[in-house]
Amino acid sequence: MLKITDLSVHYGVIQALKGVSLEVREKEIVALIGANGAGKTTLLHAISGLLKKSGGEIEFLGQPMTKKNARDIVKAGITQVPEGRRIFPDMSVAENLQMGAYLRKDKAGIERDLESVYQRFPRLAERKKQLAGTLSGGEQQMLAMGRALMAKPKLLLLDEPSMGLSPLLVKEIFSIIQDINAQGTTVLLVEQNAKMALGIADRAYVLETGSVVLSGTGAELAASEDIKKAYLGG
Ligand code: ATP
Repeated sequence: MLKITDLSVHYGVIQALKGVSLEVREKEIVALIGANGAGKTTLLHAISGLLKKSGGEIEFLGQPMTKKNARDIVKAGITQVPEGRRIFPDMSVAENLQMGAYLRKDKAGIERDLESVYQRFPRLAERKKQLAGTLSGGEQQMLAMGRALMAKPKLLLLDEPSMGLSPLLVKEIFSIIQDINAQGTTVLLVEQNAKMALGIADRAYVLETGSVVLSGTGAELAASEDIKKAYLGG
């Protein structure tokens, strides 16, 4: 579904991605793990068209995406839930969700999807008129995910959904991710919480200083001694 070949990204003279190749197949959950500064966010931003690539190719559903802008990439079916949620704090929950559908014109479909987001996230349904900036961290993560779903993505990119959340909420968010996936949305998940991410991932890639150093099924990587030492606390 998504095929990345030899992708490089520079910030000035710093090379943040050094020829990354990876693949996400339809209906998979693929996790991308790695230490701070490994280039995980950079990779998601490059896929979303928010960063200029200095080399390599990105293909989605057989179409070249490398030179497309962010808007066309959303239209093609890729939506990102950014790190730190980036919800619109001075807008209501309902308005934030509407923003997610800004490229869609099918009013009836938008209404239907809004209802299904409220069903998936009852806490958002209870807070439709509340200003998003006053939501708790977990609720803001749900709102960011709901907003992304309003774009009707085929591939959902999630950047550190567990960040700053209590263990209980992390569990809840991960079970929602599995649920969204089970209903047909493919997921590429960036996580610091390697244990949780490998627990739900079909496959995973480990990124170190801009390069993929290891890949395998979630279970294989979770069982690897190197991964245990580096990312799973021994
Ligand atoms: P984290 O988990 O800490 O967010 P990450 O794996 O997502 O880390 P990136 O944010 O992609 O890592 O950063 C990769 C490298 O690129 C880092 O060395 C970072 O300092 C650098 N970098 C990121 N954004 C910029 C920027 N706008 N300008 C210059 N360097 C940047």
